[in-house]
Amino acid sequence: MIQESTLEAADAVFRQTVPAGDYFLKVIAAGQTLRILDLEGNQAADTLFYNANDVSERYSSMDTIREQGNIYLTAGSKLMSNLGNEMLVIVADTCGRHDTLGGACATESNSVRYDLEKRCMHACRDSWMLAIAEHEELGFTKRDITHNINFFMNVPVTAQGGLTFEDGISAPGKYVEMNAAMDVIVVISNCPQLNNPCNGYNPTPVEVLIWN
Ligand SMILES: [Zn+2]
Repeated sequence: MIQESTLEAADAVFRQTVPAGDYFLKVIAAGQTLRILDLEGNQAADTLFYNANDVSERYSSMDTIREQGNIYLTAGSKLMSNLGNEMLVIVADTCGRHDTLGGACATESNSVRYDLEKRCMHACRDSWMLAIAEHEELGFTKRDITHNINFFMNVPVTAQGGLTFEDGISAPGKYVEMNAAMDVIVVISNCPQLNNPCNGYNPTPVEVLIWN
């Protein structure tokens, strides 16, 4: 569902551009609004969310899908935790659909899906591992890397019940915006994947904006 934001970029209290292949990690307070902006279009932002006060509570794709009765995420979607609590609500979305089924790219899946030689290529899981290693104070480990959302990624379910990674439906300037219902740690891997069309074979930067 296309829903435009009512917020002005000039009023944001935080703005940061995240280059392709980098991670972004920040604690967002309950009540704040987070926007991820697809600057150049067709870019996947693989995102994890944790309760900032107890990282054993984290985003759960299965709880989110069950509660909303829909496998895609868009404006109105409540992002649920593994404890059944609402973590964030998507309040604006100009892309129209986001994936939470496909998971994130990893060196292992790259070698299985594409070629053994792809094993050395940079993948989202590497970026998350680096984020965790550089933020020991937050208390999470690689065991806590679980379900994620692929903002802007087009992963339709086929008539046969399979999943495919298709060319993106996002475009330059499209964004998704969500309001935090609890203090959350957001960890984004701005996907470096080059073997499927999730980034249009040309990974590009995204921008993160936060409003109070
Ligand atoms: Zn990726």
